[in-house]
Amino acid sequence: MSRDCNCLVEGPRYPDLKSTYIGEDPSNGRYADVTAIECSRCRRLWLKYGFEDEATSRSGRWYEGLVTPDQVEDLAPLDAPALLESLPWHLRGGSYFGGKVIRSSGPLVGF
Ligand SMILES: [Zn+2]
Repeated sequence: MSRDCNCLVEGPRYPDLKSTYIGEDPSNGRYADVTAIECSRCRRLWLKYGFEDEATSRSGRWYEGLVTPDQVEDLAPLDAPALLESLPWHLRGGSYFGGKVIRSSGPLVGF
């Protein structure tokens, strides 16, 4: 296991990942995709919550945080944002944030 895998900085990225779709969160018309992603380099497990408003440019955003298999096993898509907010930190990125990946904690910025 690599201690400083790149996923800690930019999240798991193709092709070094294995994703499992959890479901969709339709709250507030976001229709966010909720996905569990394992980094195939370091085996860390990430929870990803991503959405965009197709009528608005630069609205795409995603949040990814490190989770345990137990935390996502029975996770309802609706509960994904609260779980990400409860983690010590999470990453956020997407066109809404200018394509930069930023480490944050607490409430999801731009949510
Ligand atoms: Zn990794």
